[in-house]
Amino acid sequence: MGSSDPRLVLLGRQGAGKGTQSTRLAEHYGVMHVSTGDMFRTQAAQGTAFGLEAKRYMDAGELVPDEIVVGVIEESMVPGGPLGGGFVLDGFPRTLHQARELDRVISGDPLDLVIDLDVPREIVFDRIAGRRVCESCQRVYHVNLPPEKDWTCDTCGGDVRQRDDDTEEAVERRLELYERETVPIVQYYRALGLLILVDGVGEGDEVFERLVKVCVEQLS
Ligand code: AMP
Repeated sequence: MGSSDPRLVLLGRQGAGKGTQSTRLAEHYGVMHVSTGDMFRTQAAQGTAFGLEAKRYMDAGELVPDEIVVGVIEESMVPGGPLGGGFVLDGFPRTLHQARELDRVISGDPLDLVIDLDVPREIVFDRIAGRRVCESCQRVYHVNLPPEKDWTCDTCGGDVRQRDDDTEEAVERRLELYERETVPIVQYYRALGLLILVDGVGEGDEVFERLVKVCVEQLS
């Protein structure tokens, strides 16, 4: 597959900027941005049984069980489905089991690149504490960089607020789970020759330039 329609995965700790950067990368390449966290939040906001169940795990900083997550992704990946072409996966896979299931689901058309967006643990705490998210379109802001008008999203006019799972305990738990469940995926993709580490510290534009540069080099 060429760089015009890439299939990418972005890994990184919560608060590393995955959401913002994967949205930008998807726009840049004109492919789907797929965030399992966004899917769960949308379902929870709609009050579906499935969304409310996912929310219980999310608010506690726990991972949603693999079988639920894989089921959701599998539905989107079928040939001719929304993820039949290029995509940027954000927040999936998060466990080794999910990574293997992803391989199975997309076996005929494998991933092009897995980017580990690296931001040290100490820095992500500050970022998450100041993070504010649009409830409607999920656009991410920061208390130091708010929307232009009174916590109303610049993109869609939705309410911008703190996520329910951005409490200190939940963040601690998510970071712990990242080390335990998600770091092994980094080794898995490294062994497959798909992994590249990108420094995620710095201004958003600067990090985005680094990401595009890496994609251009690796996907050509
Ligand atoms: P995110 O928006 O990616 O930070 O995800 C928010 C929350 O959704 C996580 O803390 C998990 O509770 C849940 N979640 C999202 N993606 C996954 C996944 N691939 N596996 C398990 N839980 C997930």
